[in-house]
Amino acid sequence: MKAGDTFFANVQGAHLTIVVAGPCPHGKVLYVKVTSDLRGIDHTCPIDPGDHPDIQHESFIHYGEADIGDATALDSAVTRRQVQMKEPVSREVLQRVAEGFSASEHARPRYEDFVQGRCSCDKRR
Ligand SMILES: [Zn+2]
Repeated sequence: MKAGDTFFANVQGAHLTIVVAGPCPHGKVLYVKVTSDLRGIDHTCPIDPGDHPDIQHESFIHYGEADIGDATALDSAVTRRQVQMKEPVSREVLQRVAEGFSASEHARPRYEDFVQGRCSCDKRR
């Protein structure tokens, strides 16, 4: 998977997840979920039904629960049908979601760095 791809985990109540950046030279990607449960929590980046076909209600990017994972592990999860890929987001939406990592007070600094192309894969977590 790569920046702009989107997917759902094949579990009940899974949220649409957007791959925001990567893969970095170590094969990692940064991804973040979209949720409509964040009203009043993190309004940094609204995602509206017009932004993606799988968004039915006004939703928000859940910067506080971003994560970094192996691009190839995600691809394997697709093959094993644990994860279902969805339509990629537009360049404009991807840009907006990425910029939110600098604006959101819930985004961890190392994820903001990853978006800027500075991964910390070779550092201790
Ligand atoms: Zn890396």
